[in-house]
Amino acid sequence: MGGSLVIQTSFLGDVILTTPLIAELARRGTVDVLVTPGGAAALANNPDIRTVIRYDKRGTYGAAVGMWQTIQEIRGRRPYKAAYLAQGSFRSGLIAMMTGAKERIGFRSSTGRVLYTIQVPYRPDRHHVERLWSLSMSDCADPPTRDQVRPRLYPSDEDRRMVDSLLRQSRSTDEPFVALAPGSAWGTKRWPYYVELAKLLADDFRIAVIGSKADSAIAAQITEALPPDTVINAVGILPLLASAELIGRAQAIVTNDSAPQHLASAMGTPTVTIFGPTVPEFGFGPLAERSAVAGNDSLSCRPCDRHGPQRCPLGHWRCMRELTPDYISSLLTEVLNPSVPV
Ligand code: SF4
Repeated sequence: MGGSLVIQTSFLGDVILTTPLIAELARRGTVDVLVTPGGAAALANNPDIRTVIRYDKRGTYGAAVGMWQTIQEIRGRRPYKAAYLAQGSFRSGLIAMMTGAKERIGFRSSTGRVLYTIQVPYRPDRHHVERLWSLSMSDCADPPTRDQVRPRLYPSDEDRRMVDSLLRQSRSTDEPFVALAPGSAWGTKRWPYYVELAKLLADDFRIAVIGSKADSAIAAQITEALPPDTVINAVGILPLLASAELIGRAQAIVTNDSAPQHLASAMGTPTVTIFGPTVPEFGFGPLAERSAVAGNDSLSCRPCDRHGPQRCPLGHWRCMRELTPDYISSLLTEVLNPSVPV
């Protein structure tokens, strides 16, 4: 009987946090992983994975046809001993069932749980990386070591060459820099003072701005506010794993509660994560050894949403507006100073 199938069709950050589960399963046999095309980029070159299977939920032929094509592809491979539902929708459960996997293992709290053969407790008190890893363990297993739940990304030689070339455009490739990742898919999670922070930091560091094409406007504002040879604008020009490589070379990163903090966790880059409407207690905080989180703990309205609404339902958006650039800069100083406990 075959190996394992991991189904993870959530956001990019969730895919990165699934890599320790994949690594654990790879110690026991072959692992195939079903992800969206966006998630597949994060799993390139991963030595723990035999095949990355793409499931385009929003593809040309729509969700139903996309699901049918995906099931046919999986069934054509070989039977799996077990399917691990890292994403808990009913649709994912259905895909797992139709692959013929005898064991279907997912969280007791998931929508698709009626289709599982084993339901694992969803521990709200644990980081999500541990929750996902626990899908591969019995209830009485010891807690994981730090290394067991270390997210893993594998930039290629080409990714490294792209970063070398980008850094050469702005002074030397070895000169220290701090990465800023000002974007998020959710409006209220975008801290509004990255330009001011960049100006504060520019005397001491080069700045690299990281993000997708959607972050071009804020990246342009940051770039225009700084002398040209102090800023590297990498927004929208690097593939995902090249962005991870760039983050890996940074002294530290300042990011919102968004995918770049998970890239930084995988690359071990000291991290300051700015939380607005969400909180680290949801289980998605930074995992790099030297990390700090910023959040406005004085507000009774916070957290107001698991993801973060596009607009503040109360209109004042104090969760973000009251976190000053000086405060974020002070947290950055702490994570950069090894003698300060974080
Ligand atoms: S309701 Fe509170 S937590 Fe939510 S966005 Fe507004 S200020 Fe932030």
